[in-house]
Amino acid sequence: MANKGKIIIISAPSGTGKSTIINRIIADTSLDLQFSISATSREPRKGEAHGVNYYFFTEDDFRKAVADGRFVEWEEVYPGRFYGTLRSEIDRITSAGHNVIMDVDVKGGVNIKRIMGADALSVFVQPPSVETLRQRLVARATDTPEQIEQRVAKAEYEMAFAPQFDRTVVNDDLHTAVEDVRKLVKDFISE
Ligand code: ADP
Ligand code: 5GP
Repeated sequence: MANKGKIIIISAPSGTGKSTIINRIIADTSLDLQFSISATSREPRKGEAHGVNYYFFTEDDFRKAVADGRFVEWEEVYPGRFYGTLRSEIDRITSAGHNVIMDVDVKGGVNIKRIMGADALSVFVQPPSVETLRQRLVARATDTPEQIEQRVAKAEYEMAFAPQFDRTVVNDDLHTAVEDVRKLVKDFISE
C-alpha cells in the first residue's frame, strides 16, 4: 500500500521531454499522482488553459503573490517571465490524499528538494546532447528562434546541476525513459 502525500520533482533543461514523461507517468493511475499546476506570468501557448497547464497571472499579480508569501518557491526562469509553486496547490493535492508530481526548472527543483527533504524525490531528466535538445525545441515549434537559443544556452548551464538531484534519467529513447522514471516513482512512493 503506497504512502500518500509524497512529492515527485521532475526537472530538466527545457525541451528535454519533462512534460511528455510527466503526462505518461500521470496516466498510470496506480501511482496516484496529481500534477502541481504552477503559476506563471508568461502568455499561454496555443492549447494551454488557465488552471490546467498553469495558473496564468499578470506580472503584477505574480509580484503580489510573492509579497503575500503564497509561493513555496518561485524563479524568474527567463528574463521577465516568472514561475512559481503555490503553497495552496501542494496543500490541495496532499490534503486530498494524493501524491504530487511537479515540473519545475532546475534551480527550483534543487530548492524544493531542500525544503521538502525526505518527503520528495528529485529527478533530473537529461537530454542525450545539447544538439538533440535544440532539435526537439525546433520540432516542438512552440518557441521563436530567439527563445530556442535562450533555452539552449541555459541548458548548458543547467546540466551542471544534475549531481544535486536524487536521481538522473537520460531521455534518449522515450519509452525507456518513461519506464525508468515510473520505476523510481513506484519505489519511492512504496517506501
Ligand atoms: P519539456 O517539457 O522538457 O520542455 P517536452 O515534453 O515538451 O519538453 O518535449 C520537447 C519535444 O521533444 C516535444 O515535441 C516532444 O514530443 C519531444 N520529445 C520528448 N521526448 C522525446 C524523445 N525521447 N525522443 C524524441 N523526441 C522527444
Ligand atoms: P515553459 O515556459 O516551457 O512552460 O516552462 C519553462 C520552465 O519553467 C520549465 O523549465 C519549467 O520546468 C519551469 N517551471 C514551471 N513551473 C515552475 C515553477 O513553479 N517553479 C520553477 N522554479 N520553475 C517552473
